[in-house]
Amino acid sequence: MHKEKIFDEDSKNYLPVFNRYKIVVDHGEGVYTFDNEGKKYIDFLAGIAVNVLGHNYKPLVDAISNQASKVIHISNLYYTQPQADAAMKLVELSRLDRAFFCNSGAEANEGAIKIARKFAHGIDKNKSQIITAWDSFHGRTLATLTATGQPHYHEGFEPLPQGFDYVHYNDIDELEKMMSDKTCAVMLETIQGEGGVYPPKNDYLKKVRELCDKFNALLILDEIQAGMGRSGKFFAYENYGIKPDIVTLAKGLAGGVPIGAFIVTEEVAKSFKPGDHGTTFGGNPLACAAANVVLDTVPNEKFLNHVVEVGNYFEEKLKELQKKYPSLISEIRGKGLILGVELTDKNKLSGVEIVNECMKRGAIINCTVGKVLRFIPPLIIEKSHVDEVLNILDEVLQRSI
Ligand SMILES: *Cc1c(COP(=O)(O)O)cnc(C)c1O
Repeated sequence: MHKEKIFDEDSKNYLPVFNRYKIVVDHGEGVYTFDNEGKKYIDFLAGIAVNVLGHNYKPLVDAISNQASKVIHISNLYYTQPQADAAMKLVELSRLDRAFFCNSGAEANEGAIKIARKFAHGIDKNKSQIITAWDSFHGRTLATLTATGQPHYHEGFEPLPQGFDYVHYNDIDELEKMMSDKTCAVMLETIQGEGGVYPPKNDYLKKVRELCDKFNALLILDEIQAGMGRSGKFFAYENYGIKPDIVTLAKGLAGGVPIGAFIVTEEVAKSFKPGDHGTTFGGNPLACAAANVVLDTVPNEKFLNHVVEVGNYFEEKLKELQKKYPSLISEIRGKGLILGVELTDKNKLSGVEIVNECMKRGAIINCTVGKVLRFIPPLIIEKSHVDEVLNILDEVLQRSI
């Protein structure tokens, strides 16, 4: 179908909550995406950190089609091998005790908030405070958008669920002042993504862990974006020498098939009884068969070393670009293959215009919070792909002076 006709149909029928780029995606191959007119794009957004193994990854496609021909869905009233396997792998990798599957990031965080509240309720009925960070992103359901420390996401949806307070990420003193025996949980992204790519500084997370222990509060880490190997470790928290009580995953966990998960300690798990939580689709055999491919591939040492190596190369090249354009780039942040480039207000082109100019030249990148170029590519990229994208970005920045 001609793309204008698709835009026209979409504009009449789809609920317009996204500002979409005017391309119709037809298919993908590895780190490349092709539109329906045959134009090729190198894809450094990866479906928003989802396509960790790239497009058309043969073992993933095979696992999905094999499973589809056996059973796609059966509900959680029965056992399936793919789900039992995926839960075992997540428990082993996380060194936590029990995994639950759902269908998205927001649902994983929603479940984490519910189980934390139930756990704290068992200690003290008023132990309900959940502290999250400004500039965080945790999802779009009412509870998770309330957890999201960006007021513009709250506007118009009041009354919001109660008991959420916010602190500045990386400010341990502010957190300490806010915590008490009434704190149920501290919920943070291990590396902030959507809010502008902010990794934790120094021993921030270690100190957060200590404060949680002191006040008997749970530490919930949202690794929906930074987990699944993106930071160079399967769980980003492994970089910082700590362990949460609850970790949430989604995005790349099944390489593109919708899935979410939260993983908890045995102590936390005990607060849920049959009937306290549930899901129809969550962890169905199709999604878990896909997740098993990611879980058999990404956590291998060789794969993770590749992420570290390409990530370091990427970061170095971005720093070279910053040296070349000191008036346009103020900071490079990130870890592994979640990298952010903060733009100064001296740029002639806005962040969105830079993204558009890159797209015209065949590179898909992303801009978040209006001024941070965010790179969350497939984890299988090579150094040559980094060069390809940065040559395009260089050309575009030339025009932003
Ligand atoms: C994307 C994201 C979510 C929400 O995931 P959905 O699948 O869109 O509901 C939550 N937390 C973080 C850190 C994310 O990046």
